[in-house]
Amino acid sequence: MTLPTKPAADSPNETVASPSPLGSDDSGTPTRREAVVRTVGTLLAVAGVPAVWTRRDDFDVVIRGGVVHDGLGSPGVRGDVGVRAGRIAAMSPRIAERGRQEIDATGQVMAPGFIDIHSHGDGNVWDDPRAESVVRQGITTIVAGQDGSSRPWGATAAASAGRESGSFAAWFAAIDALHPSVNVAAMIGLGTVRGKVVGEDDRAATASEVERMVALVTRALADGACGASSGLEYTPGAFARLDELVALARPLAGRRLPYATHMRNEDDQLLDAIDESIAVATGAGCPLQISHLKTQGPRNWPRLDDAFGRIEQAKRSGLDVAFDRYPYTAYQTGLTNLFPVWSRDGGTQAFLRRLDDPATAARIRTETLGKVELIGGWDNVHIASVRAADDRAAEGKRLGAYARSLGMDPYEVALGLLRRSALNVGMVGFAMSEDNLDRILAHPLGMVCSDGGAFAADGPTRRGSPHPRGLGTFPRVLARYVRERRALTLEQAIHKMSAYPAARVGITDRGRLAVGLAADIVVFDAAIVRDTATYEQPFQYPVGISAVLVNGGVALHEGVRRPEGTGHSVRPAAG
Ligand SMILES: [Zn+2]
Repeated sequence: MTLPTKPAADSPNETVASPSPLGSDDSGTPTRREAVVRTVGTLLAVAGVPAVWTRRDDFDVVIRGGVVHDGLGSPGVRGDVGVRAGRIAAMSPRIAERGRQEIDATGQVMAPGFIDIHSHGDGNVWDDPRAESVVRQGITTIVAGQDGSSRPWGATAAASAGRESGSFAAWFAAIDALHPSVNVAAMIGLGTVRGKVVGEDDRAATASEVERMVALVTRALADGACGASSGLEYTPGAFARLDELVALARPLAGRRLPYATHMRNEDDQLLDAIDESIAVATGAGCPLQISHLKTQGPRNWPRLDDAFGRIEQAKRSGLDVAFDRYPYTAYQTGLTNLFPVWSRDGGTQAFLRRLDDPATAARIRTETLGKVELIGGWDNVHIASVRAADDRAAEGKRLGAYARSLGMDPYEVALGLLRRSALNVGMVGFAMSEDNLDRILAHPLGMVCSDGGAFAADGPTRRGSPHPRGLGTFPRVLARYVRERRALTLEQAIHKMSAYPAARVGITDRGRLAVGLAADIVVFDAAIVRDTATYEQPFQYPVGISAVLVNGGVALHEGVRRPEGTGHSVRPAAG
């Protein structure tokens, strides 16, 4: 980080803000009164008059004595940070002025608030804007709209309770009115776009449909979306062909915003899927963000070198490519994801009808069992959530063990759960290598994502048995992959959680600690910070994170949460 060069003792008031390097509208430019105070203060200091002459409560908040990490990967430097009007107003080895609120960060790390580049918090934030599981990890901005799914246009199921708006502009306004505890940026879900224009069927889009989809993407970008996402293992997004994806990603190119993809395959066809992702971004001329990169299934673990090789080759060829990953060796998805994509063509009813046809049902069974074998059997399938109240006993159990307890065939148990919950069954699959995870997190093109939702240990979002990543991701990277496994350094980890993802989605006024930027700050004790959420007991908050500021508001301090959120919608800088 760059701290002012003059020692604080010589000029206690030199910590007053300099104009924002970004020239934003509330940049913290000193007012005339502050300028006078600064000048007088400097003169007094020179004359040997003690600094008590300075104006009190010069800052809204001063965080003192932490090791300040700027987010750019440089080593931390001991210092104080002063916050005023939602912005970082001063950074200095010692700030003499008082803050209305003082936070002691002695012995702790001060870092830019974490930015979660692949979040599903847009699902639950409406139910509980406190987003406790998010803010308590030190996350201050989530990037929603992932895996091809956009809330602003919404699936019909989400259309109630004001969750669906006609446009991204209206949706951002609804987020602002909600006062969530964290900031929300959003990508355009290309699966939702396809569902809206083409419908649920597996067919190529016509030229006029492509035109209408491109118009939706273009409009959403103008409204402030920060990229476009695809979910090519999900319907109807999976029905998009390469040329359609290229056409829909092309509007991103001019803004240098990413095409983010949950690829068509993450196990046996991983390398083909990477090739397809590279072809989309290359064809569109836009940056590529591979979402939650993984090599699923033990037999695919040795393919990581080939996966990196393809990505690095694309980078050398000039493609702006990066990827993200959550720090767990199990993934979470819908239980239907174990079933072949073709069997889900046309939606829930079509899927259930296929199961009623014996010949088709047999084919579905064979292909599904192949996928289950790939991840190591039914005991590697954890049932995260069901919709049907009668099946609550299955939540939190391994499907294999649950079937044994019922004396039933696990495939039949899976089908029964799906039928009774109208396919709304969530699963966690244990299928990844931790050594590969170390390497993915440590790779220079890798960054951290949660891929998780927003929950709380109390209230309406305490439901089912979600993947612990929604409550533990960022502290877990700091604890397990920095401190214990030493896969990456603290500086690298912070960079991958802040400035790197911010730059990726065009957010220029946060993601770093620098004077003039938005005061999104996390304070944590690097020696003890850790996640506590587990697959069995997910609703547990991390420890070791002592303070979180969002837009200068103290969202969390010593375990106490501020009641009303200070987060708002976030758009990429105009480019
Ligand atoms: Zn995904």
